[in-house]
Amino acid sequence: MKCDPTLYRAAPPSLAVKPRLIRHLFLPPLVILLMIGLGYAGFWISEHNGIRTLSENGQRQLELHARAVESEISKYTYLPSLLELESSVSQLLGDPSPEHRQTVNQYLEGLNRRSRSRAIYVMDTTGRVLATSNWRDVDSYLGEDLSFRAYYQNAVRGQPGRFYGIGSTNGEPGYYLAHGLEEQGKIIGVAVVKVRLEALEERWQRARLEAFVSDENGIIILSSDPARRLKSVRPLSEDTKERLARSLQYYWFPLNELEPLARERLAEGVEKLTFPANTELVSDDKAISYLSQTRPLSDTPWSFTLLTPLQDLRREAINQGILVAVAFALVAFLLIAWNERRKVIATRLAAREALQEANSQLERRITERTADLRASNERLKSQIRERRQAEETLRRAQDELVQAGKLAAIGQMSTSIAHELNQPLAALRTLSGNTVRFLERGALDTASANLKTINELIDRMGRITASLRSFARRGDDQGQASLTKAVDAALQILNARIEPLPLQVHRDFTEQVLQIDQTRLEQILVNLMGNALDAMQAQAAPELWLEGEPGDGKYRLRVRDNGHGIDLEARKHLFEPFFTTKPGEQGLGLGLTLSASLAAATGGSLGVEHPASGGTAFVLSLPLASPIQAEPI
Ligand code: ADP
Repeated sequence: MKCDPTLYRAAPPSLAVKPRLIRHLFLPPLVILLMIGLGYAGFWISEHNGIRTLSENGQRQLELHARAVESEISKYTYLPSLLELESSVSQLLGDPSPEHRQTVNQYLEGLNRRSRSRAIYVMDTTGRVLATSNWRDVDSYLGEDLSFRAYYQNAVRGQPGRFYGIGSTNGEPGYYLAHGLEEQGKIIGVAVVKVRLEALEERWQRARLEAFVSDENGIIILSSDPARRLKSVRPLSEDTKERLARSLQYYWFPLNELEPLARERLAEGVEKLTFPANTELVSDDKAISYLSQTRPLSDTPWSFTLLTPLQDLRREAINQGILVAVAFALVAFLLIAWNERRKVIATRLAAREALQEANSQLERRITERTADLRASNERLKSQIRERRQAEETLRRAQDELVQAGKLAAIGQMSTSIAHELNQPLAALRTLSGNTVRFLERGALDTASANLKTINELIDRMGRITASLRSFARRGDDQGQASLTKAVDAALQILNARIEPLPLQVHRDFTEQVLQIDQTRLEQILVNLMGNALDAMQAQAAPELWLEGEPGDGKYRLRVRDNGHGIDLEARKHLFEPFFTTKPGEQGLGLGLTLSASLAAATGGSLGVEHPASGGTAFVLSLPLASPIQAEPI
C-alpha cells in the first residue's frame, strides 16, 4: 500500500529550519541573560528588604543604646549645680582664702569619691581653678586658668556647659559638665565635673556592638572601635582644623577624617557606609559595609551612631540571588524540556492524524475503486455474455453462410457436375453395350478391357460425388488438415472446369499439417481457385501458382493467377459479403467472406496482393499443427 505523499503537510525546509536555528542560537544566551538579570534582581530585592528590616531593628537598638548614653551622661548633670547649695563654695568664691580653699578641696574630694566622677572643681569668674577634688595630685588643676575652655565660657554666660575634651594637664580624655554658680541672680563662679565615659565603650565592646558618639564638631569622642576615636565623621575644613588645634580640645591629637570607601544616604540619619577592612575579623574581605543610623543625644550637641554590619546581609542577599537564578534556570530548563516534549507529541499526533487521514482516504479510494471495479466487472461480464451471444449468433450465421455458400457453389457447379457425370455415364452406356456385344462374339479380351475402363469411370464418378459431399457437409473448427490432400481435393472438385482449359498449375509448396478442419481447408481452396479460374476465363495461357512458405508458426499459401486482376474500386469491398462482380447467377459474393471467416476461426488469416506483373494473389495463412516437413510433392 502506498500513501499519498501530498497528505503529509510538511513545511518547506527553509522555513522549518530558520526558526529552529534562531531558537537554538538565541535561546541559551537569553536564558543566561535572564538568569543573571533575575539573580541580580533577587539579590537587590533581598538586600533592600534586609536593609529595611535591619534598619527597623537598628532603630530600636539605636534608641536603646542612645538612651543608655543619655542616662550615663545625665547621671552627672545635677552634680555641678549641687555645689550652688554648698555654702563653703560660695564663701570661697567670695573670699578665696587658703582656709576656704582647703575646706572646699576636701569637700570636693569627698564628693568626687562618692559620685565616682573623675574630678570636680570650682573656678572663679576669670576661669581660674580655686578648688579641686584632685588637689593632692601632682597634676592638680589647682590655680590653672581654664578660661579658654568652651564649657567655662558657656557656663559663665549662664548656659549649660557640655564639653568633651582631652585634659590639657594630663592628656586624659573626659566629659566636662559645667554650671554657672549663681548668687542673687549673679554668676559668681563655675562648677565643673569631669566624668569618664569609657565604661560605655567597654559595654559596647562586650556586647559586640559597633557604635560611636560624635561631638558637635563631628569628631568621634567615644567608639567601640578604638581606631575610629578622634576621627572626623565629616570633612573638616582647614580653618576648622586650625581652630580646633588652637582650642586644644583634642590635645595635640591629629584630627583625621573617617574616610569611608563609599557613603550612600538611605534616609534621614540612615546611611550605608563602606570602610576598608582593617580588623582581623574581616581580613579576608577587602571592605566592610555598615548600616549607619545616627540619632542626636538629648541635652547635648552630640550624636550617637550605631553601625550594623551588612556582611551577613550581603552574603544572604547573594545566596538569595543565586537561589533565584538557579530556580529560574531550573524552571527555564523544565519549560524548555516541556515545550520540546509538547512539540514532539504534537508532531507525533500530527503524523498519526496524517497517517490516519491517508489511511482513511486510501480506504475510501479502495472502496470507490472496488465499487468501480465491481461495476466494470459486471459490465464486462454482461459484455462478455452479449459478445458470446453475438459470437454464437455470428457463428450460427457463419455456419449458415458457409452452408449457403456451399449450396450456392453446388448450385453453380451443378451444371458442371451434371456434365461431369453425364460424360462418364454416356461412356458407360456405350461401353456396357459394346461389352455385351463383345461377350456375345466371344471377344473376351476386348470385353475385359472395356470392363476395366468401366471400373475406372465409376471410380472417378465416386470421387466427384465424395468431394461434393465433403464440401457440402458442415465442418467444425477443430481438426487438422493435410495441405497436399486439400489442394488435390480442390483440384479434383474443380476438375470439370480445369480440364477444358490449357491451365498450368505450378505447385511450389511442401506438405504441411495445418490446424484446420480438412473439409474447411478444401472449401477455402475451392473458393480461391474457383475465383482464379473465373478471372482467367479470357486468358489464352492461364497459369495458377500455388506457392508456400513457413513463418511465425504459420504456413502461408499464396494462390496466384494471371487473370484480369481486381480494379481499384472492387479492392475496397472484396471481403464484404455478397460483393460480386460476376454477372447473373454466377456470383453470390460469399466465397471470400466465408474463406476469410474460416481462416480467422483457426487463428489464421486471408489477405490479397496485387502483383505488379498482373493477376491477383490471395495469401492464406494458417497455423501449423506439426513441424514443417521438407517433403517435396
Ligand atoms: P463470387 O465469386 O461469388 O463473386 P467471391 O467472394 O468469391 O464471390 O468473389 C468476390 C469478387 O471478387 C468476385 O466477384 C471477383 O470480382 C473478385 N475476385 C475474386 N477472386 C478473384 C481473382 N482471382 N481475380 C480477379 N477477381 C477476383
